[in-house]
Amino acid sequence: MLREISAGGVLVRRTAEGWMMAAIEPKKEDSGPRDVKTDSQKVLLALPKGLVDPGERPEQTAIREVREETGVTGSLIGKLGDIKYTYVRSWGDKQRVFKIVSFYLLRYEAGRIDEIADAMRIEVKRAIWVPLVEAERKLAYRGERDMVRRAQEYLKSHPEAA
Ligand code: ATP
Repeated sequence: MLREISAGGVLVRRTAEGWMMAAIEPKKEDSGPRDVKTDSQKVLLALPKGLVDPGERPEQTAIREVREETGVTGSLIGKLGDIKYTYVRSWGDKQRVFKIVSFYLLRYEAGRIDEIADAMRIEVKRAIWVPLVEAERKLAYRGERDMVRRAQEYLKSHPEAA
């Protein structure tokens, strides 16, 4: 089975309304003119992430991918964990892929949400801030929801992080 190693981020920003998190609405090439939606017609959100480049440390990948996909630059707080899944490629020879994605908690440093390169619109419909307390139920994948829960627990037990 093919293997892919990616890294991504839960990037948080403290505001007067509480913690906000940078999320993306992925654009699915196989869903035609419709957006990615659940039965309840909710738009699905995902965490920004991408493949670890050769020679790159996964935490660097996480910061780079978050910046490229959301427009926002973060700095590393710490590692949240790894998620694993398999999927079947929809293109080419339809190979099965085993994937590991490492997620990192990042603190907002600079940038404006959704100010991303035109080329990135192939993958990202838009990037948005979502309240961290709502992020868990808005994310499409269970593994990513677990990462958000860990981020919330960390921020609760480390109030100095604000
Ligand atoms: P990357 O963002 O790492 O460059 P990609 O966009 O090429 O990767 P994925 O986001 O891994 O690919 O998506 C490949 C397939 O896996 C899609 O069908 C997607 O719906 C599914 N998928 C993505 N994330 C998860 C997850 N956390 N759990 C289960 N399936 C997932």
